[in-house]
Amino acid sequence: MCTEEPLYWLGPLGGCDICKKPFNNVMYDVKTNIGPWGNLCESCFQLYTSRRLGTGQGQKFERQTDGRFLCVEGQSGLAIAASDTKKIILGY
Ligand SMILES: [Zn+2]
Repeated sequence: MCTEEPLYWLGPLGGCDICKKPFNNVMYDVKTNIGPWGNLCESCFQLYTSRRLGTGQGQKFERQTDGRFLCVEGQSGLAIAASDTKKIILGY
């Protein structure tokens, strides 16, 4: 999971859980519309999720030059704080 910084994906990573294709440079660990969480590629993220990131929703990872996937969006901390602030401002 994606809970400490810097946040790298540490689990086994085959391909996308839906289309089974290998990941290019982006991977999402995200809750899907059909229920379970999965490792999704960009196109399946667009098709099979609510496209929201954050606690209880999902995280976005990008492949680094060393081949590891770094969490770049949706992690707890700054990203969540920013979206919570936005929610407060917008009133929802
Ligand atoms: Zn896919």
